Amino acid sequence: MATILGNIQQVRARIAKACDGAKRPVQSVTLLCVSKTFGSEAVREAHAAGESAFGENYVQEGIDKIAALADLRASLEWHLIGPLQSNKTRVVAEQFDWVHTVDRLKIAQRLSEQRPAGLAPLQVCLQVNISGEASKSGLAPAEVAAVAHAVAALPRLRLRGLMAIPEPAGDLAAQRAPHRALRELFEQLRASGLALDTLSMGMSADLEAAILEGATLVRVGSAIFGRRG
Ligand SMILES: *Cc1c(COP(=O)(O)O)cnc(C)c1O
Repeated sequence: MATILGNIQQVRARIAKACDGAKRPVQSVTLLCVSKTFGSEAVREAHAAGESAFGENYVQEGIDKIAALADLRASLEWHLIGPLQSNKTRVVAEQFDWVHTVDRLKIAQRLSEQRPAGLAPLQVCLQVNISGEASKSGLAPAEVAAVAHAVAALPRLRLRGLMAIPEPAGDLAAQRAPHRALRELFEQLRASGLALDTLSMGMSADLEAAILEGATLVRVGSAIFGRRG
């Protein structure tokens, strides 16, 4: 039977192989374990296997898991990777370490105002609708630069980079195209003076394509924890 430890070892091997193929050091890619819908015991197991960064999609589920794992808080990093409504920003600013899904300035302003003074700045990425899907959240690529410069100026946030969830595609070439587009946008922002270091892209099905195109953080759920119910 597949175990979380065994799955993590397989995912690490995939990341290492992809880094090798891309001639990138394996330490240049962070594994974010996406624990949405799985219980705190699954997170404990992944933590025991050496993982420390966990991603949650739903604010309340994340808050509950953070509380259930309070004993490990100092060695865990919690990332919100799901949609964030403005009425939920306060608990997120108080409890999470990262938010990958900032898609408008107003949300960023609220997070900055609500981030407690005693905590490190909240680490954020802007979500980009890189495949241009009508149903997907995220900034249109043309909107990103203006929002990025405004978010970078907020005192209690640290803008780290960009995040996207490209449309699923079958073959490697088709998977690479949207990841490449996100990386090009990222490079334009850096050339415009923003000190960004995080390209959050790649999931269980397409992490190889994302790493070939420069992902620095891959968000992997089902390949670690199994199929979601
Ligand atoms: C669920 C989810 C993932 C993980 O997806 P898998 O295909 O299970 O690896 C990554 N990113 C986001 C934003 C998600 O919602």
